[in-house]
Amino acid sequence: MADDYKGYRGKAKDTLIEHKVRVWSDVVIDSTRGEFIGIILPRSETADDKHIVVKLRTGYNVGLAVDTIKRIKEMSYKEAIYKIPEKEFPYDPKKPNVKLLGTGGTIASRLDYRTGAVIPAFSPGELYGSVPELADICNLNTEKLYGVFSENMGPDQWRGTAEAIGKEIKKGIDGIVIGHGTDTMHHTAAILSFMVQNSPVPIVMVGSQRSSDRPSSDAALNLMHATKTAAESDIAEVMVCMFGPTSDEYGLLHRGTRVRKMHSSYRSTFRTIGDIPLALVDNDKITPLKTDYNHRRKDKKVTINTAFEEKVSIVYYYPNMKPDIIESLIDHDYKGIIIAGTGLGHVNKPLYEPIKRACKKGIAVYMTVQTLWGYVQMYVYDTGRDLMDMGIVPAANMLPEVAYVKLGWVLGQTKNLEKVKKMMLTPIAGEITTREPYDGYLIYQGGLPEITEFLKKHNR
Ligand code: ASP
Repeated sequence: MADDYKGYRGKAKDTLIEHKVRVWSDVVIDSTRGEFIGIILPRSETADDKHIVVKLRTGYNVGLAVDTIKRIKEMSYKEAIYKIPEKEFPYDPKKPNVKLLGTGGTIASRLDYRTGAVIPAFSPGELYGSVPELADICNLNTEKLYGVFSENMGPDQWRGTAEAIGKEIKKGIDGIVIGHGTDTMHHTAAILSFMVQNSPVPIVMVGSQRSSDRPSSDAALNLMHATKTAAESDIAEVMVCMFGPTSDEYGLLHRGTRVRKMHSSYRSTFRTIGDIPLALVDNDKITPLKTDYNHRRKDKKVTINTAFEEKVSIVYYYPNMKPDIIESLIDHDYKGIIIAGTGLGHVNKPLYEPIKRACKKGIAVYMTVQTLWGYVQMYVYDTGRDLMDMGIVPAANMLPEVAYVKLGWVLGQTKNLEKVKKMMLTPIAGEITTREPYDGYLIYQGGLPEITEFLKKHNR
């Protein structure tokens, strides 16, 4: 069968043939790195021809270089089941209607427990089959907009998602959930906060850090929390809904312009920066932590503005950065530059000349801070004043990624630098706040109770 070697070619395929095994063979591999027991997984079309990928009993996948393989013994073989049993999603006229728009990421897929095959789970029937609790919350409908890992989300997908949201709102939906890869969820949350304004219903972004074949997966719980929020919450804003603490006690709702992925593998990876989260959600209730949010309305009005200038960049300053980085952006006709500067908003002296040239040429240059928490303060040192004289505008406490998407959105509407400045510095969706909350940094970065606990144990 053609699929017996799915994705394998060259040396890797020859190795499988030589040892009389194929994709989905349950094998013992004897290699120079030791013994590996698991199932041979298919590979993607673009994968190299030097590795064989095995799903180990632990659930982890390993890529074994063919050169290290001494012997492969097949113990059994069973073809993958690609289909999740579909169950019809029940309709209850008394329940709110929620639409789930899928863009991709780990949450959009489910792994076959036995084989490790990735199966998309996105029809309402499939979701009901895997997370039946969803039917207690709402009537759920789904639409797959895209199927990409989130590093591949960009202006086209942002526009498409904003337009799909607009359509649903105009049809009278009670809430929207957006399934998304976690890696760039905060970029999309921010741009949607600008592209979709004055929403009458909650727009809740959700993902998962661990795929649903792993016992520690956060997929089902995040989905339940997000769906509950979309169906019942009074907060009609773009939010991110993910694990709050490291355990599965509750989820946090983060404002779309104040949220950031802060850990590469923890399930509690999303953190509100510069503020406190909007609310806490568990299976029973949604508990607001803030009061200044947009409330749910009964009308179907929403403003969709998908303008976006793509020639915008973030320059993350590092010591000894050379002027040619900025010069290259000028020469390639960039219209906007967000600098993530050190401390209160600094870059080294050699960058002054190209920055001056950029501002003179009419490029919109804004300063944000690498520290993430806190405000750009360019009046404190002479160097900051010099930079402002050249035309750099301090962007208060806008997060660098938020400033990046906002500048693209603003430049999509006007190239008049005065107007750009006015729009950039006028908060639209909480991206600039007048002050950070008391203790926000301490509580929500480290977890003050956890830090205290840790220190107590440590000092004993
Ligand atoms: N790399 C994936 C993505 O962002 C990770 C995830 O889905 O959480 O699409």
